[in-house]
Amino acid sequence: MKYADLHIHTYYSDSTFSPEEVMSAAEEKALSAIAICDHDTTDGIGPCVKIGDTKGIEVISGVELTVEKPDAEIHILGFLIDWKLEWLQKKLKSIQEGRIDRIHKMLEKLETKGIKIKAADVFDIAGRGSVGRLHLARAMLKSGAVKSFREVFEKYLGFGRSCYVPNIKFEPKEAIEMVIEAGGVPVVAHPGIMKKDEYIKELAGYGLKGIEVYHTDHNAATIRHYEELAKSLGLLMTGGSDCHGAGKGKVLIGTVRIPYDLVERLKEAARR
Ligand code: AMP
Ligand code: FE
Ligand code: FE
Ligand code: ZN
Repeated sequence: MKYADLHIHTYYSDSTFSPEEVMSAAEEKALSAIAICDHDTTDGIGPCVKIGDTKGIEVISGVELTVEKPDAEIHILGFLIDWKLEWLQKKLKSIQEGRIDRIHKMLEKLETKGIKIKAADVFDIAGRGSVGRLHLARAMLKSGAVKSFREVFEKYLGFGRSCYVPNIKFEPKEAIEMVIEAGGVPVVAHPGIMKKDEYIKELAGYGLKGIEVYHTDHNAATIRHYEELAKSLGLLMTGGSDCHGAGKGKVLIGTVRIPYDLVERLKEAARR
């Protein structure tokens, strides 16, 4: 039986893992395929494909985009995109630049709460690619200002919390169209975290093709619920661990895996 983990980050966004580390871990877990889905960057795909070729592991291109509703943050996965497209790279670059401004804004807000972190510390932790809240969270932990990731997100950086700053404005419709335009398959990521199913129906109207049913933060009941919803809306099902290396503690790669059949369905959808 062949298995795939279709939600993996690299150090080009907020994982601690290099492409080498990602691919070694995928090999250790005997995965046949993985999808690299970094936040707003595709820089990890090329290096992982290259290593995957030598190991006989298929690397599927992906990206994770963030869009917002007034009361929810929605993550859209774009699988099988033609990541080398110039217009796509330009668009991602502008989103990445917006992320840098956003860090400065969140640092200003944190300072009003008595938490002083140097921007350079956050950018050092990020190292390259897309900078984000997980890097800022790590800088906050390192400074001793907070005791846990949980505290960081519950008090300060979680959606709508005291020091949260949204990304540059990016409409759900726009994100879905961008993925389709790039030849990819748009899938809503970890809807069990968002808990706003009404938006999935709206997204389906814009061309959403699938639901990430299997995810680290989905329990058995959540999985059953989204299997049903995918069936009733005629959407594909995907799944992945959302591994951030050691970025959130435990290395998750391969702990959520799906039969390779579902990858075949995804490929059929991309061909349509
Ligand atoms: P960003 O792309 O900068 O908005 O950061 C998103 C990342 O922050 C997610 O991929 C998670 O790794 C992390 N994150 C966001 N909200 C939470 C939360 N409530 N608890 C733990 N991690 C979170
Ligand atoms: Fe992340
Ligand atoms: Fe996500
Ligand atoms: Zn993710």
